[in-house]
Amino acid sequence: MALRLGIVGGTGFYGLPKLEPVDVETPFGDVALGRTKLGGREAFFVPRHGGRHERPPHLVNHRANVHALASAHCDYVLGVFNAGSLVKGIRPGSWAVLGDFLDFHRSAPRTFFADRAVHVDFSEPVCPHASDALSKAAPGAPRVVYAGLDGPRFETPAEVRMLAGAGAQVVGMTAVPEATLAHERGLCYAGLVFVGNHASGVGRPAAAQEIQALLGAQRRRLLATLDAAARGLPTKKSCRCAKAPGCADLTLEAKA
Ligand SMILES: [Zn+2]
Repeated sequence: MALRLGIVGGTGFYGLPKLEPVDVETPFGDVALGRTKLGGREAFFVPRHGGRHERPPHLVNHRANVHALASAHCDYVLGVFNAGSLVKGIRPGSWAVLGDFLDFHRSAPRTFFADRAVHVDFSEPVCPHASDALSKAAPGAPRVVYAGLDGPRFETPAEVRMLAGAGAQVVGMTAVPEATLAHERGLCYAGLVFVGNHASGVGRPAAAQEIQALLGAQRRRLLATLDAAARGLPTKKSCRCAKAPGCADLTLEAKA
């Protein structure tokens, strides 16, 4: 069967060409997907913040978005998100690939297992094959550790020092819990990071509109990168994502 691809777009990236609307009902709310072709694959696009960017980062309905892409039988999901750089060497206007993450979220619903004792293994937090496809499509983009915080405010200089000291290179508000939810669902997830600014104390502060404009100027490059990544995704999977390695529902085990 032909591969299906999900694309989640964030601030400054609200669509792919020639989208045909597909409305999906989920237990977490309705999601308006757009169906199109990307890199010769069937692709479903979801605007992470809603079609009119009505949801701020701390209110993004990640569970509905991920559930909708799983319902559309997407084999791979590529998330595109903005982040601030915590290190001088990763400059605004550059791209990176999500390698791992630190989860500092406190407010958003961030698991599909809120009422069951399920513990999912995260020793391989993103799909290695989808991440490799992104890396090949974006030569020179470093693999980064992403620190996920609720927002919507940006970080203080002390928080930035703490995050950098903890091993993160970029910080943002949306890659997590999107990536963790996708992993819980057994989806092959990879993330393309647009570095829109230097975080507080690392470089000059930037307004959100300025970051959005910077990404808008790279829209053509972004589409070309996603197109190349879609073409590079392996048809036959040998990764462990779908098995949710180490996933154990202790509730069911206790009943057995
Ligand atoms: Zn995978």
